[in-house]
Amino acid sequence: MSELLSRHRAVMPSWLPLYYESPLEITSGKGARVTDADGNTYLDFFTGIVTNMLGYDVAEVREAVERQLAKGVVHTSTLYLIRSQVELAEKIARLSGIPDAKVFFTNSGTEANETALLLATYARGSDEVLAMRGSYHGRSFGTVAVTGNRAWKNSSLSPLNVHYLHGTDHASPAFRGMTDQEYVEACVADLRDVLDTTAPNVACLIAEPIQGVGGFAMPPDGLYAAYKEVLDEHGILFVSDEVQTAWGRTGTSFFGIGDHGVTPDAMTFAKGLGNGFAVGGVVARGDLMDRLGALGVATFGGNPVSMAAAGATLDYVLEHDLQGNARRQGSLILEGLKALTALPSVRDVRGRGLMFAVEMADPATGAPSPTLAGGVLEAARERGLLVGKGGVHGNVLRMAPPLTLSQEEAVEGRDALLDAVRSVDAGA
Ligand code: PLP
Repeated sequence: MSELLSRHRAVMPSWLPLYYESPLEITSGKGARVTDADGNTYLDFFTGIVTNMLGYDVAEVREAVERQLAKGVVHTSTLYLIRSQVELAEKIARLSGIPDAKVFFTNSGTEANETALLLATYARGSDEVLAMRGSYHGRSFGTVAVTGNRAWKNSSLSPLNVHYLHGTDHASPAFRGMTDQEYVEACVADLRDVLDTTAPNVACLIAEPIQGVGGFAMPPDGLYAAYKEVLDEHGILFVSDEVQTAWGRTGTSFFGIGDHGVTPDAMTFAKGLGNGFAVGGVVARGDLMDRLGALGVATFGGNPVSMAAAGATLDYVLEHDLQGNARRQGSLILEGLKALTALPSVRDVRGRGLMFAVEMADPATGAPSPTLAGGVLEAARERGLLVGKGGVHGNVLRMAPPLTLSQEEAVEGRDALLDAVRSVDAGA
């Protein structure tokens, strides 16, 4: 065990995930690549944890932050006017497509979701919430409560009355053999049943357009639109958790929920927006947002340094059409990866834009295999590629490269991943 790893183990929580058997210490980054303390350089197909969406050491972001630091920083988001904060809120409100939208800035995705849950439950005067099986929404009391997988919650205590819906479990025995259309109909029938029999006064549904930690699990086309129709009949709000799917990552819309043809009442965001700096937030219908009242204060949320980083990042995304790049590089990679579905240990390959996944299963039993996924993680590292892992069974390789990825980098990463999966499959 390295000296740093043993010190980490001594003072930091044992449940903190460290991906590799011999964990990496990343010391610097440039573009889509990072370098570790031993001088090894890797192509990063997970961008931190989907945080550095422009890649590393981006001059525009660094210079915007340095300009702000040079002014001497007042680290508070409230009490005083902050021009960069208002300007960023205006852009996000406009891009959101939500009518009369208002924005509240936080420091993380957890805090953003917690705020959205407060907003919806206050507005509707109810603590009943719908959430999705397999979802992940954060580590606070409220966001753990709506997280839909036991492995990511360590408490059944809940401040909310939560009912879980189907949407990404098409392969489970209850739905096996159904077409997408039949599955959507079964999901909607279940939602109606929940509303009729067990949850008479629901405040909102919180859902991810593509489940992030859940292994980039994708609800079928039409599901969220069908849910929205039922929710509208009851005045129930739709909160889209865009922490992983915003800013054009899916290639086909600027916020992931756009791919489902749904305009939600609120969206939450974080991760990529600050390109490594801590920024999160909620964009919601103004009438809902204004009801939060005096609770709507976060000392550091929307502070000038975060706003400088986020403003520069968002401008970069828009000026360079990174949504278009995500679509182009994403389809190039996904088309290549589809060849893996012929392998006995690969259960599924899926994705949208620069968000794609390979799901591993035991070739003998067909059961989800976190061990084989771990093997691919290590094999990819040996080939100079960093990828992520996730899924409700921990058996999914998750890739979310920077949106700035060049075609050469896309091909290099795709080929390294193909080779890594094939080598693990051959030994399985
Ligand atoms: N929501 C989603 C979809 C996430 O993927 C995450 C983190 O992975 C969160 C919320 C929590 O965000 P944070 O870790 O910034 O609190």
